Amino acid sequence: MIRLPEPKQAVMARREEIIADLRRLVPGGPLGEAVIGEPLRLKPYETDGLSAYRQPPLAVVLPQTTEEVAAVLRYCHRNGIRVIPRGAGTSLSGGALPLADAVVIGLMRMNRILEVDYENRLAVVEAGVTNLGITNHVAGDGFFYAPDPSSQLACMIGGNVNMNSGGAHCLKYGVTANNLLGLKLVTIEGEILEVGGSHLDAAGYDWMGLLTGSEGQLAIITEVTVRILRAAEGQRAMLAAFKGTEIAGAAVDAIIGSGIIPVALEFMDKPCIHACEAFAHAGYPLDAEALLIIEVEGSTEEQDMLLGKLKDICSRFDPISLKVAQTAEESMAIWKGRKGAFGAVGRISPDYLCMDGTIPTSELPHVLKRIGEMSTQYGLQVANVFHAGDGNLHPLIMFDANDPESFRRAEAFGADILKLCVEVGGCLTGEHGVGVEKRDLMNVQFTRDELRLQRAIKGAFDPDWLLNPAKVFPLEDNPGLQQAA
Ligand SMILES: Cc1cc2nc3c(=O)[nH]c(=O)nc-3n(C[C@H](O)[C@H](O)[C@H](O)COP(=O)(O)OP(=O)(O)OC[C@H]3O[C@@H](n4cnc5c(N)ncnc54)[C@H](O)[C@@H]3O)c2cc1C
Repeated sequence: MIRLPEPKQAVMARREEIIADLRRLVPGGPLGEAVIGEPLRLKPYETDGLSAYRQPPLAVVLPQTTEEVAAVLRYCHRNGIRVIPRGAGTSLSGGALPLADAVVIGLMRMNRILEVDYENRLAVVEAGVTNLGITNHVAGDGFFYAPDPSSQLACMIGGNVNMNSGGAHCLKYGVTANNLLGLKLVTIEGEILEVGGSHLDAAGYDWMGLLTGSEGQLAIITEVTVRILRAAEGQRAMLAAFKGTEIAGAAVDAIIGSGIIPVALEFMDKPCIHACEAFAHAGYPLDAEALLIIEVEGSTEEQDMLLGKLKDICSRFDPISLKVAQTAEESMAIWKGRKGAFGAVGRISPDYLCMDGTIPTSELPHVLKRIGEMSTQYGLQVANVFHAGDGNLHPLIMFDANDPESFRRAEAFGADILKLCVEVGGCLTGEHGVGVEKRDLMNVQFTRDELRLQRAIKGAFDPDWLLNPAKVFPLEDNPGLQQAA
């Protein structure tokens, strides 16, 4: 179980006064009230995608401009009030989990697309624009924004930047960090800064690199300049079904080793195949122990050439079946199951924990075997679905949240998987961030000295540890927790 810091009593005692002050700073205008303080209306903000943890905040503020964000941060800084930035709240690691004495700053009203520049292949958008909203805006002109988290219908670009989110198509195009050009941000002291711009690189330190994946700990991002890319002539997906997870893992290793970079290379094991098929009726073979979805793109000739090579590689691993989509509709049917995988597993288990570790692809067969053994050891079912091409695992550990013992075992099972990822040369998180979920495992990955330097960076931006404290750093090394205890 995750421990949250005790609320600062001096802040709690001034609750009504703070809410009144925030209402003056952010009046709301035509969109209606922008400060929420009533307990019932705070309920939707008490958790995020890691719904096992809940904590209503002191208040929620919904600014519409960078200047309003700056005014709220200046006020919170002056008054020692903790702040939790929030996009759509889809974080799976508890990154947007509130604290009782904290003000949540929700960016959802900052949802305008400010500029699209096709000549320079970029778009400037506010932090609350959804990931899919960017692609939808430019698709008619033959462009797209590449990183595509499965939550792309809801999650926002500000959240994507702060989690350095990835998705199925990041194997070819890279994650959020590889698709950003500039950021506008507000520090805890209320200063408005701009880093990067419409050009490829910037002089001096790599601020973009530092801020991307910083999990709301360094600043609030209000605007993002993203790269947009020309869409390929066409895509086609292929399904390869295998007799064992380790065999499929070896096929992934062979594909990557061959030098072919498909646009996407996704993996599902048997429990996941069955859950997805029952949910999406995608035509997945139910006798398979493991399934790969492989997508290529380009002209029809390029697609045929790549799919031919991929079929040859997969054939070396004695597949049960190899099915190449012949039309865009058949490709979409193949993807429908995968895109709905988390929801599909939610139908067969009351609760699940979605883990997120990354490993070298050559370790896939070994790691999948060990996850299977751990599943038996902990007596909990696991469904594996993941971005196999870049070794980003998402084991879904099924448990019953009404049974505390089952939850305890699920957390211990998840921690063992992440420790295994580090042991084989990988890392604790591929794309879901550390949040509260992996906070106490950070010293498995980093030495005390490495964590000390990371804390110093956080302290340089936020000396009083007011911005999203109690996350990312382990309990004993987290001034955000110690100050309050
Ligand atoms: C069904 C499902 C599928 C998912 N699939 C994927 C996937 O394929 N790939 C992937 O990478 N993730 C995935 N996720 C996780 C999640 O969607 C991503 O982490 C996403 O980027 C979070 O965006 P959000 O707008 O919901 O941010 P939130 O959850 O609201 O916040 C995420 C973190 O960013 C901070 N933050 C948010 N906005 C700002 C801002 N403007 N300035 C400063 N800090 C901010 C928050 O404090 C928090 O620490 C999935 C989640 C779900 C529920």
